[in-house]
Amino acid sequence: MSTFPATRLRRLRRTGALRDLVGETRVQLADLVMPLFVGTEALRNDALPAMSRHTVDGLVLEVDGLAAAGVPAVLLFGIPHAKDDEGSGAWIDDGIVQQALHALRGRFPELLLLTDVCLCEYTAHGHCGVLSGGEVDNDATLELLARTSVSHVEAGADAVCPSDMMDGRVGAIRHALDDAGFEHTPIVAYSAKYASAFYGPFRDAANSAPAFGDRRGYQMDPANVREALRECELDLAEGADVIMVKPALPYLDVVRAVRERFQVPVAAYNVSGEYGMVKSAAARGWLDERQAALESLTAIKRAGADIVVTYWAKDLPAWL
Ligand SMILES: [Zn+2]
Repeated sequence: MSTFPATRLRRLRRTGALRDLVGETRVQLADLVMPLFVGTEALRNDALPAMSRHTVDGLVLEVDGLAAAGVPAVLLFGIPHAKDDEGSGAWIDDGIVQQALHALRGRFPELLLLTDVCLCEYTAHGHCGVLSGGEVDNDATLELLARTSVSHVEAGADAVCPSDMMDGRVGAIRHALDDAGFEHTPIVAYSAKYASAFYGPFRDAANSAPAFGDRRGYQMDPANVREALRECELDLAEGADVIMVKPALPYLDVVRAVRERFQVPVAAYNVSGEYGMVKSAAARGWLDERQAALESLTAIKRAGADIVVTYWAKDLPAWL
């Protein structure tokens, strides 16, 4: 291999056109998913606009703008009017996400409608499953997650995204979907979801902070990567079509490890804390939001994610 001065790597960095030509990683709108919050009352967040909560009517307007701008997919989170111990608002026919799906499905036939499947927004105690003896009961939760998934697909969801981290949920959901005649509906599993401090702004937006304790009994320990591979392996064995790592930026090594191990689409969730850190620094003039966001998304794709769930999906059409 020749060396300097025959080799000069700066030659290909001289102009934007050359850099584009040899770029190894591209952030493109087609790979992005925009998370959205829907509730019975709107709740605006001026500092973190993507954390705002919409009514069903407001959601339709928001999605109208996103679809017109070319955002290909949204991921819906519901905040119910009332909560109970079982989280029944998650699966009832007129639940908030079901209402949203009915309103969106007919209007946006091309848009991919993904739904988060979990109980934490719907349970009075704020945990991701039902409780027995003060603990989250894994096996009793599975049927409720399966019921929620079927209900979402009946209302128009294109794919369901279980985020609860119960063992066996993907298999339970796959069986229930197949039994209901939805064998063509994919499951996007939050396979490696860590018990992270970076979910802070989301919990306020989704009103889903646990009333006691924390989620470390079911979400993953940030220290572990081999365990993430086991989680992915099990979810795939149970029928997951896409596996997800969440959060993204503090876990790029996990994204890379998952990418190298499995020949399936990999998603990464660029979470609310990652978005909020850049937003707050930009508000102080410390960072340029557009550049920091594009660099973040490029890094997530470079690590190996095919799909990125990001609160910047809405801003991307104007930025690219
Ligand atoms: Zn949850």
